[in-house]
Amino acid sequence: MVEFKDVSKMYKNNVLALDNINFKIDEGEFVFVIGESGAGKSTLLKLILKEENPTSGELYLFGDNITKLRNRRVPILRKQIGVVFQDFRLIDNKNVYGNLQYVMEILGYSRRYIKREIPKLLEKVNLLGKEKSYPYQLSGGEQQRVSIARALIVKPKILIADEPTGNLDPKTADDIVKALDQINKEGTTVIMITHEKTIVDSMKKRVIHLEKGKIIRDEKGGKYEEN
Ligand code: ADP
Ligand code: ADP
Repeated sequence: MVEFKDVSKMYKNNVLALDNINFKIDEGEFVFVIGESGAGKSTLLKLILKEENPTSGELYLFGDNITKLRNRRVPILRKQIGVVFQDFRLIDNKNVYGNLQYVMEILGYSRRYIKREIPKLLEKVNLLGKEKSYPYQLSGGEQQRVSIARALIVKPKILIADEPTGNLDPKTADDIVKALDQINKEGTTVIMITHEKTIVDSMKKRVIHLEKGKIIRDEKGGKYEEN
């Protein structure tokens, strides 16, 4: 599903953000990417999303070599990936329904499909009944669930969550991770960047640990810290 072969990324200021990275994520996996600030986690995501290109090495996505993908092909690729951010990125002056509808209209879905699909999306994240609420009327956890529903619009094969629980209290964070786990169980590959030790330790999923641009640990059923 995702494969990095000898991937390095050096930014223009000569910072080596990723240093000869090798890993493969199979369909259906749930993977935590952990590491201190500056370890290279965001760079890793940017390479998968083709927001940045590797300096050297090869990148595969869905079996295709995307290392030298043409720019006009990038939107097609991105439509197969859902992204969730720490800060939700909802539209403040649109309610829950409007936030989803807006994105679906941009993507060119028909009005009939949108009307049929939004309740299904809200059901997946347990938000039925909140259609008319505006973001400021929702708790942080509810806002994040709207953003997860929005990421699911394209029925992505991969869901990438960049510190999705960073702004949430522990109980709410736990609910969000459970929602991601459920989405994973329904077949979507999930890659979650996090700093939260308790979450990683409780989930017992694969852990890819980055330090100074290198993978120092890649462990199935791993914990936040090495035993
Ligand atoms: P993390 O997400 O783990 O905090 P990043 O991937 O953001 O790490 O950063 C890895 C390293 O690359 C850091 O030293 C950071 O300062 C540097 N870096 C990140 N983005 C850029 C950029 N656009 N230009 C130059 N250096 C960058
Ligand atoms: P938390 O303490 O988890 O952040 P809140 O106290 O923000 O939760 O919200 C608790 C519940 O009340 C949520 O279901 C939220 O949707 C609802 N709620 C909060 N503020 C408003 C509001 N101004 N109007 C309508 N519903 C609200």
